[in-house]
Amino acid sequence: MDKYDIVIIGAGTSGAYLAKRMAEKGHSTLVIEKSSKAKVGTKYDIFHIEAREFSRLGIPRPEEGDPEWAFEFEKNYNADPLTLYPKLQRNHVVGLHLHEYTLLMDRLAEEAGAKIVYGAEFLDFTFEEDGKINGVTYKYRGAEKTVGARIVADCSGINAEGRTKLPDGYGIENGPLTDEDMFYVILKYVKLKNPKDYLDGSTFWAAYKSWIAPCADPEGAIIGLGACHSFEYAEKMFEEMEKTVPLPEYELIKVEKGRTPYTRHPHSLVADNFIVSGDAGSLTKSANGEGVTSSIYELTIAVNTLDRALKLNKTSKEYLWEINKKYNETQGAEFAFLRALLVGVVNAASFDEYEYAFKSGIISDELLNAMVGSPILPKTLIEAASAFVSGLTHKNIRVSTVKAAVKALKNAMDISAHYKNFPSDPGDFESWTKKTDEIYMRIGKIK
Ligand SMILES: Cc1cc2nc3c(=O)[nH]c(=O)nc-3n(C[C@H](O)[C@H](O)[C@H](O)COP(=O)(O)OP(=O)(O)OC[C@H]3O[C@@H](n4cnc5c(N)ncnc54)[C@H](O)[C@@H]3O)c2cc1C
Repeated sequence: MDKYDIVIIGAGTSGAYLAKRMAEKGHSTLVIEKSSKAKVGTKYDIFHIEAREFSRLGIPRPEEGDPEWAFEFEKNYNADPLTLYPKLQRNHVVGLHLHEYTLLMDRLAEEAGAKIVYGAEFLDFTFEEDGKINGVTYKYRGAEKTVGARIVADCSGINAEGRTKLPDGYGIENGPLTDEDMFYVILKYVKLKNPKDYLDGSTFWAAYKSWIAPCADPEGAIIGLGACHSFEYAEKMFEEMEKTVPLPEYELIKVEKGRTPYTRHPHSLVADNFIVSGDAGSLTKSANGEGVTSSIYELTIAVNTLDRALKLNKTSKEYLWEINKKYNETQGAEFAFLRALLVGVVNAASFDEYEYAFKSGIISDELLNAMVGSPILPKTLIEAASAFVSGLTHKNIRVSTVKAAVKALKNAMDISAHYKNFPSDPGDFESWTKKTDEIYMRIGKIK
């Protein structure tokens, strides 16, 4: 039986990135990918990466003319439901074709020495007598195969095929995501009828978790919406959104549908000889459900720990634990803060309150730019605060919404502080998770 240092389930962007980095460090690396090479990364066409992320994470940056490249833009508007007071955030974004970019990442992994077997479907784990993972079984060309692994990484996407097959008590929650833990996303690729409507950037309507953004065709656009529960519910919300938002006239070209996790990541991302990443670990951004670069961020942390663990020949949970610690102290805390805040505010705010927040300057260009790193002037904060007080006085903002926002802010601060205080010792994990669950009970889920 073949044995690899690491076997990775899934050759999407997460699996490919991990494979490349582990192979570069000299570890024998096998990726088993259910899809054929022709189908990998075809779950939808266009995705976005913020331009600054390429160098931060050391991932390839396609340029105009490359097969992966689709378009770029810098203007990101955020708008009230009626789109009367849009606010502008400047953030350079690159639109890429997911299939082509996945193939590029897969190719780089192979060039680094990783082996990718397409058409190989993970079935289950194999275990040592002591109960620790020591390999996987998979189906390839109708036959069941077994391969040994010192570490298995689940990068199989939203269904978390590996994580959900772990035995109870293995150290990571093994339940599948529910309909309330994900966004059902509908993307309408359209042709805009009037040249005056051609896009120079994207517009996001937080009230509907909806957006219009450029696509590869400069005369076209992608109109998207994400909602929990089901695709049927998302379609209903799409109809509601179109009643209020003044979208440009368009001709529908095609519709794509997909699901993205919108929930907390598992309390632990590692167990004995095991790590989870990508959508399988719900590592998507709280602001918008995007997950390519946020998953790769976790892997930039993981690679060094996995490398050391393999070299020491100590790959039990204790030796992988620092991945949890470093992730939770940084992006984990940051995402948890924002998600708790958004869940509270978005669930509470009415359309009229959205309109007021945009009109009055509570939400401003400066505030949005501060979210992507620009400095914020005290003047902006004072103006936002006085618009807020005036809104309360004149009943443009309900007291119940303010109470919900204050509660959301408290929950956000609590969960962020709690993640930053993630235990260094796995022995303290149980009491930490108990408190985490209590805070999440208070936070609730996005409606
Ligand atoms: C409509 C939509 C738009 C999005 N837009 C963006 C965006 O603009 N920017 C962004 O960053 N993110 C975006 N996301 C989220 C992003 O697509 C995911 O976070 C990201 O693709 C996750 O990568 P992954 O490698 O973890 O999983 P995946 O890309 O899902 O890859 C998992 C791989 O595992 C394989 N696999 C599954 N089961 C098995 C098995 N049993 N055995 C072997 N292989 C298996 C699959 O075939 C697949 O190739 C969007 C999501 C949706 C739904």
